[in-house]
Amino acid sequence: MSLPHDAIFAVILIGLTLFLLLYIAFYVLRDVIYFFLIHYLGFINQFISTENQLNIISELKKIKYYQNLSISGKSFFYHRVIVFMMNKHFFGDGINLSNEVKTYISASAVQLTFRIRGFYIEHIQLIRVFPKAIWSQLAQHEVKGLTTGGGVMWLSWPDIKKGFDFPDDGINLGIHEMAHAFKLTLRCESASGHQICTSITKWAAVSKYAFIKLEEGDTSFFRKYGATNMEEFWAVNVECFFEKPEEFIKLYPEIYFSLCKVFNQNPLNAINDYEL
Ligand SMILES: [Zn+2]
Repeated sequence: MSLPHDAIFAVILIGLTLFLLLYIAFYVLRDVIYFFLIHYLGFINQFISTENQLNIISELKKIKYYQNLSISGKSFFYHRVIVFMMNKHFFGDGINLSNEVKTYISASAVQLTFRIRGFYIEHIQLIRVFPKAIWSQLAQHEVKGLTTGGGVMWLSWPDIKKGFDFPDDGINLGIHEMAHAFKLTLRCESASGHQICTSITKWAAVSKYAFIKLEEGDTSFFRKYGATNMEEFWAVNVECFFEKPEEFIKLYPEIYFSLCKVFNQNPLNAINDYEL
């Protein structure tokens, strides 16, 4: 007995549709899935060699934010770094993509999302790393970093490194670009925007006066570049939030606490893994 052609065609069609749906579900949830497998089920050796694991940990130990974490906080942070590395495509444009390069860049993203459970910077797909500042056709000038709406990030490696070598000066290229990518992931302008958007709206409302002050030339706290527009002001705010929290809370407590809400963490509470 053989199945009629129509039935065979229907079975193939259903099979292909199911496969496609499963693939899409995996693609959308891949950060969550990999994190679950690595952090909760301990499947790290299946994805990354022991040598690379040791290299990544030794790089993380140089990062101030990571140094302050508890043992469990360090484990959580490290596993999130691994997931970020696995799910992004890194491309070295005239530069060797060492573990140091990839770890610092990944740590920038993880720092922002560390206390937001289940949230990952999904907007970025490709990270191009350069040995110096790059000419941008889009911006029509040299840039140290750039994050496009299409999911590509450009980064100058010496400036990424400088950001972490001087963790208290309010300038950190990795944090800056990831702050743009964070906002792009939220898609606050669309109807399906994330719930964190409400906290960003609150930040925009309470920071308006500080932005006007900066536009008028008051660079006593935020650097001049933040006056470019509200998007750059946002990224500069995030840099200061993580690098100069003591000064930030004294000068602009309302803005500081609005950012605490956005990132669900308090950089001043290092002793408790930055818990809010
Ligand atoms: Zn920017």
